[in-house]
Amino acid sequence: MPPLEDARVVILGGGLTGISTAYHLKRPWLLLEKEQRLGGHARTDETRGFHFDKTGHWLHLRDPYTKALIEELLPGQMVPVARKARIFSNGVLTRFPFQANLHGLPPEVASECLLGFIKAQMNPPTSPPANFEEFCLQKFGEGISKHFMIPYNHKLWGVHPREITSAWCSRFVPIPKLDDVVKGAVGDVPPELGYNISFLYPAKGGIETMTRALVARLSGGEVVCGANPEAIDLRAQTLTLGGEVIPWSSMVASIPLPELCARLVDPPQEVVDAASRLRCTPVRYLNVATRTKPNADFHWIYVPEEKYPFYRVGIYSNAVPSMAPEGHGSLYVELSDRGALPKVDEIMPDVAQALAAAGAINSPDDVLFAELKELKYAYVVFDDHYYASVETITKYLEAHQVFPRGRYGSWTYNAMEDCILAGRDVAAKLSAVSA
Ligand SMILES: Cc1cc2nc3c(=O)[nH]c(=O)nc-3n(C[C@H](O)[C@H](O)[C@H](O)COP(=O)(O)OP(=O)(O)OC[C@H]3O[C@@H](n4cnc5c(N)ncnc54)[C@H](O)[C@@H]3O)c2cc1C
Repeated sequence: MPPLEDARVVILGGGLTGISTAYHLKRPWLLLEKEQRLGGHARTDETRGFHFDKTGHWLHLRDPYTKALIEELLPGQMVPVARKARIFSNGVLTRFPFQANLHGLPPEVASECLLGFIKAQMNPPTSPPANFEEFCLQKFGEGISKHFMIPYNHKLWGVHPREITSAWCSRFVPIPKLDDVVKGAVGDVPPELGYNISFLYPAKGGIETMTRALVARLSGGEVVCGANPEAIDLRAQTLTLGGEVIPWSSMVASIPLPELCARLVDPPQEVVDAASRLRCTPVRYLNVATRTKPNADFHWIYVPEEKYPFYRVGIYSNAVPSMAPEGHGSLYVELSDRGALPKVDEIMPDVAQALAAAGAINSPDDVLFAELKELKYAYVVFDDHYYASVETITKYLEAHQVFPRGRYGSWTYNAMEDCILAGRDVAAKLSAVSA
């Protein structure tokens, strides 16, 4: 074993956070990834010429640094796309976000939503919302909460909105002004709202093209795929991999926080207890290939009603045609059921009917093939234990030179850009230490 002062920075997990850390680090590093290829959630699968990400992975850049980085990595190869997102409810498609585009809904639904919004504006809350359900009622009123916010978020998070706090949502849930809601209700279309008005996407090869461009620039370290450490000893600053003991000077861990805690040698009881309280919902989704090009003009739809088996459907090939062979379509379908894993053939007849009803595919028999996939870690649950648990674990880890980062290392809700920036920032911190 080399002496500790020669030990490298170990980066655990080779998703965008780990890759970005390695890319920015100015010290020798060792990147360990349990899968056979880097990228984590930012990978793309290909079947018979159809490309599928791990559900929609559209790149929304807000920061000048990431904008410049992506342009440098892929000059002229990222396509700017103006978002076309819709809501499918009450048998009709309306514009996103639901709350600012009530026009087109059945009149009784639109008026219920509009009156509820006005009443909420006239009766401002006297105390902060206790949970996300209360947040919706306070900000949007009863109609919008009932027809969209509560049922959609229930399907997405896999838990009722009253079980989660509203702390995660300020950036992701657009809150329109009364003027915009009224205009949207009568069809006087308001400006686009929300954090994702437009996005970038690789012209070819799915989101993994971006990941690979970053990986191709890695230097100054070693990548080991198929590496899943058995144990991490914080006092000795070592980890065990396939029986071999490897020293580290610092560690950046982007693997899911509970998985990291489960590998710690003799963690304190408070860390074990905190880790046991972390909750996360998985996502099951379908990669769907179609025989014909979908007539739909949208990139994705939100589907709040319980009678439909999915909560979001996207058409990759409508954003970037190269995602499917000419004349065909490639879609992702995010399923709401998190019960026993079904067989794809059992669910497809209902799913195909519902996709056709929503206009996402041209007819139920237009499905060429479908593949069922699962992301074990998808949505961290922001329940009442969340903050104290994450703080307890993070404090303990950082006191021992382990820096949990990224969507599942920091145990949060974020996007690819946040992960690239988190990797950059932790690399700067560790590079400064050695300087
Ligand atoms: C359904 C869904 C849709 C999304 N859509 C978008 C979108 O449209 N736009 C957007 O910007 N973001 C989107 N995101 C968020 C985006 O995927 C993440 O922010 C980002 O990819 C997370 O990167 P990461 O490196 O932090 O984590 P991951 O990508 O999860 O990487 C962690 C890595 O650690 C590895 N690992 C796990 N355990 C171990 C172990 N024991 N040992 C070694 N390695 C291990 C994993 O294999 C993985 O490669 C979406 C996320 C989900 C779940």
